[in-house]
Parts: sequence; structure tokens; C-alpha cells
Amino acid sequence: MDTAERVLAYGGGSLDRAGPLRTDPTRLGALLTEATSVLLPMWRDRCLVDGHGPVRLSAERAALVRSAAVETVFLGLDGEAAVFAADLSPLPERSAVEMAGAVRSVDVRALVGRLEPGDAAVQAYARGLLHWHRQQRFCGTCGAPAVAGGGGHLRTCTDTECGRLLFPRIEPAVIVLVEAPGRSGRCLLARHAGAAEDAYSTLAGFVEIGESLEDAVRREMGEEAGVTVTDVTYQGSQAWPFPAGLMVGFRATATSDEVRVDGEELLEARWFTRAELRDRAASGRPLGRADSIDHRLLTDWLAEG
Ligand SMILES: [Zn+2]
Repeated sequence: MDTAERVLAYGGGSLDRAGPLRTDPTRLGALLTEATSVLLPMWRDRCLVDGHGPVRLSAERAALVRSAAVETVFLGLDGEAAVFAADLSPLPERSAVEMAGAVRSVDVRALVGRLEPGDAAVQAYARGLLHWHRQQRFCGTCGAPAVAGGGGHLRTCTDTECGRLLFPRIEPAVIVLVEAPGRSGRCLLARHAGAAEDAYSTLAGFVEIGESLEDAVRREMGEEAGVTVTDVTYQGSQAWPFPAGLMVGFRATATSDEVRVDGEELLEARWFTRAELRDRAASGRPLGRADSIDHRLLTDWLAEG
């Protein structure tokens, strides 16, 4: 199976997003109170968990949480069950935790290894969508308040002359495994500003307006590491709603061994052989975050030689 077909953490959720239901407020309103429906409460980007994991509320507890929530959004259908998420961010943390019948709040990234992949994907989806609502309370064109609609998948400016529709924003970034020229079996990893002393990862950067993904790969590799690359090939993508990312993975080949880091985003970049990376992994220095496409790009490359 190629990389693009395999599921990375935070994606590939089994939820049917049921887009047509978003434009049916009557049906959505009825689903909110149906006995089989589930409500996932969140607090300031964090899951609310009990001893079993993120809590899933129904019936009276769900109604209580909805009444205190700043926003309730429709995520989709899990089989026949409608799944909603509610944002308790205005409350103090203790109150939100108690209201949800949880014991604490925790970021989904701290839970990801222990959750079913589908559950991690739904929690990340809820986190990203609720985060967007908190950041998009006003219209960017006229400054009037904006209100949620479409089951929580859009906001509408309340100024009658403006009435602009606001949709959730995704911020794409490219993440690239650069190979040395001439099939020499080396790849380029960098130490990023702010990362731990001995932490190396693949190179990445945001896509700018007016760029294709491939343009962004070529520009970022040039700017950050002074490397000219060719043969830019897509490897797969990963939802990264922390808060609004989409990581798009590539491989590329450098035209020369020469590396010159910018000294700002990257402190150092150098070529690693597969043997070096295997030694690092064997000595407990992880190859990127285990839940990230960075890790996937590296493990795929290692598996080839
Ligand atoms: Zn407006």
C-alpha cells in the first residue's frame, strides 16, 4: 500500500460527515435530543476525559452541557448515531470538567497512542472546528458579529448589507524528505529553532498565497536550507488541526550536497545515512513525533534500504 492510502493519526475517521444534514436545521434540531445521539464536550482545545478516555454524553447531561456551551456543532453520523461537539471554553476549567462528568482536561495529542485511531480523528476534528468558531466571532470584512450556521460548518455576518459567509480555514504546510543527489542513501534533516538539542526532523513550511504545493517545497527548501530540489513527489497528507493545519508530505532530491541554513528557523541541517538514523532510533532518539507524517516520511524511507 502506498503512503497516501495508509491512515495517519487524526485522519481517516469512520464518521460519515453527512454534509446534506448541515442544511437541514429541523432534522439537526431533532437529532440533538435523540436518545442515540452523542455529545463530545471540549474545553479550550482540550478533550474532557474520565478514566476510560474522552467522555461521550447523552440525554440530560448532554442537554446541560449544550445549555452552557458557547457553540454546539454537528460532526456527523457514527452509524445511526449523530455526533455533536460542544465548546465549554467560557467556563473555568473545573466547572467544565464537572459539568461534563469528567475528571480532567487533556489535549488529544497526549492521548493519541491510547485512543482508537477513529476516536482520535473525531476528537481532533472537534477541536479544530470549535477552535475556528472561537477565532471567527466577527466578520473580517465589516467587523459585525458573525453567527454559526450550517450545523457549525459556517458562520454568517449579521450585518444585513454585508452578510458575508465565513467558512473554516485550513492552513496547508509542506513537509519534505530531501534526498541527497545520486542515490547516495542520505536524507536531509534539520534542527529547528526551539527544538531540543539533539532533535532532528524533516523540513517544513507553510504554503503562501499564489503558490502550488510544489512551488512551496522548492521555495522553503531554498530559503531554509539553501538547497535546490527537483523531482518533488507527493507522499501523502495528514490532518493537523492544531489549530488548522494540513500537512502535505513530499519527497524531493537535492541537486547538490551543499547546505546553508537560514539560522532563524533552522539552526543546523545535515545529511544522515539510513544506518545513522537506525542507530539514533535504537538509542532512544525518536524519528520525529510518532503521530506525525514526519515520522512516516522517515520510516518509509528507512524501509527502502
Ligand atoms: Zn460583514
